[in-house]
This record gives sequence, C-alpha cells and structure tokens, in this order.
Amino acid sequence: MQVFFPTETARHDPAFEVIEGGLRVPYSDACERVPRVVTALRQHGVGDPQPAPACDLGMLSSLHAPDYLDFLACAYADWQVEAPRHAWPPGTPLLPALSSPRRPRPPGSAALQSVFARAGYYVLDLAAPITAGTWSAALDSAGCAVAAAQAVLSGQRAAFAVCRPPGHHAGRDFAAGFCYLNNAALAAQRLQTRIRSRIALVDIDYHAGHGTQDLFYLRDDVVTLSLHADPAWEYPFYSGHADERGEGPGHGYHRNLPLPRGIDDARYLDALDSGLVWLMRQRPQALVVSAGLDLAIDDPVGTFAITRAGLLQIGARLAALRLPTVLVLEGGYALDSLGDNLVALLAAFA
Ligand SMILES: [Zn+2]
Repeated sequence: MQVFFPTETARHDPAFEVIEGGLRVPYSDACERVPRVVTALRQHGVGDPQPAPACDLGMLSSLHAPDYLDFLACAYADWQVEAPRHAWPPGTPLLPALSSPRRPRPPGSAALQSVFARAGYYVLDLAAPITAGTWSAALDSAGCAVAAAQAVLSGQRAAFAVCRPPGHHAGRDFAAGFCYLNNAALAAQRLQTRIRSRIALVDIDYHAGHGTQDLFYLRDDVVTLSLHADPAWEYPFYSGHADERGEGPGHGYHRNLPLPRGIDDARYLDALDSGLVWLMRQRPQALVVSAGLDLAIDDPVGTFAITRAGLLQIGARLAALRLPTVLVLEGGYALDSLGDNLVALLAAFA
C-alpha cells in the first residue's frame, strides 16, 4: 500500500479551540499527530510514507466554491490588515465572533466586504481557526488524498493519506471542526471523474461528516455511508441524522447510522455490516474511507468503546469489499495510541 504524508502540516498550529460555554481548550488536532502516525507506520512496515505535492486549484474547484477558496487563501492576510486597529497578541488566529445567514452571496457582495463578515459566513464554528499556515497546510493535506487516489488509479490495491488538517467537516463553501478542504471528498471526486462509475465513501470517524454530506447530497455518483455518534447529542448536531437520505438525484444514495454512547465492538460491527450490505447494493467500483480514529475506546474526544481488535475487524470488513480503496485520516486524538490504532485498521490492506 502506498502512503502519503503532508510536509507543511506543522505550519497550521492553532493554540486553542473554543467549545460550548465559550471555554478555550488546547487544540485537539495537534501537529504531533502526523509524525506519530508516520513513525508507527514505518515501524510496522505499513507502506513507505512519502510526501505528496500540494493539491492544485483546478482539483479543488471541482468540489469547493471559488469564492470560498479565495477566502481561505487570503483570510489570514486580510485579518492582519485589521491587526493594527486592535490590541491582538501577535499570531492571533482568525475565528468568527458571529455567524451569517447562509443565503447565497454573489462574489464581491457588499455583505462580505469585511473580513469579520467573511469569517462568519464561511467558518461555521469555533473549531476551525485560520492561522498564517492554515492555507498551505490544507493544500498539502488535500494533496495527500489526491495522490492516494492517483496511486489507486495507477493500479495500487489500496493507498493511505495521512491527512492533517482533516477534511470531512468541510463543505462546498464552509470550514468547520478542524477541517478546511474535504480531503476524502477530493479523493472520491478524482476517482469518480477517472473511473466514471459510482464511488462509495464510508465515513467511520466518531463525528458525522457534515461537509462530505453537503458535497454529495444531491449526487448519485458518490454514495455515502456514515457511522457516527448520534448528532442528537454530539457534534455537529444539525446534520448526520438517519432521516437525511439525499435529495434530488441523490435521494436514497446517502445513509447515516447514528450510534449510541459507549457502543462496543460487536454492536458496531453489526451496524457496519448492515450498512455495507446496503452500500454494495449500489454497485460502487471504488471505495474511499474517511478513517477517523476518534471512534477508539482510548480517544479523549469520542465516547465509543471500540477496541484495537475491533479496529482490526473494521479494517477487515472494509478490505473484504475487494474494491480499490483510498483511506484518508480524519480525527483521532489519542496521541500515544493513534499510530498503533491506525496500523490495526490498515492491517487487512497492508
Ligand atoms: Zn471526529
């Protein structure tokens, strides 16, 4: 299996995120995640991790809105123009203090003249701060996913992208939850445009991937299955519910399986099996996996009870689909076990 990792990732290093109640807490998506994963993969002989080129704008604009990409590229510089007028400490990230009604705004709209307005429009929550290095790190991360897709198109059975920042909360024109560009969706898009038949995207991250759902909700050429903590009580709350099944041509091609707190291996695998039966009825020709490791029992963010043996089984179930497969890192914040947990998930592909 080929493995790709980002080299610019440490340039995106927010000091904090803001959680409910307005509390500032250390940023869970720590830079350290990438070297921990790469070291574990090398120690276990899983692939030979290589850097990948940054994602090009043509590929990005096949999924993301051009005005959103312009915002991301310029946001931090625009923010710094404001700095002399405020008593901000050096390096203060751009983080919105308001949210805008998400009515379509034409490019150049007066309503989006201010960087404060643009932040409120394009950044949906307080866990996607924009720092000096966010854009280059996001381009690099997306490039890993596209390189992994290209490896599969070139005949690899499977490829893994050590993406950071992650991507599945990023939608067509919004950032959220540590995510700016949707890495897994870009991989699926690359596969779909080259193979020209239906692609499956399975999201096993602990959180519902509302960005991925946003990107493919109206489409039937990328079918999505997501298993995640029930958004009735877990982030992202407003999306990822069982009754969200797609719209228009996409109706019936998207399935959410909300799961209870504390779910164990056996019950998780039952849910996964039923979801995969449904998925394979759609006759996909390739698979993308949003591999979030925050479903693991030792994750400080998640509440599931999935053991390392469970991760082995999840990987085995996915590999048994016998589809060309791109796996993309999403969440997973237990630094001391993240690498070994990933090795377990990938074992059946390695
Ligand atoms: Zn997550």
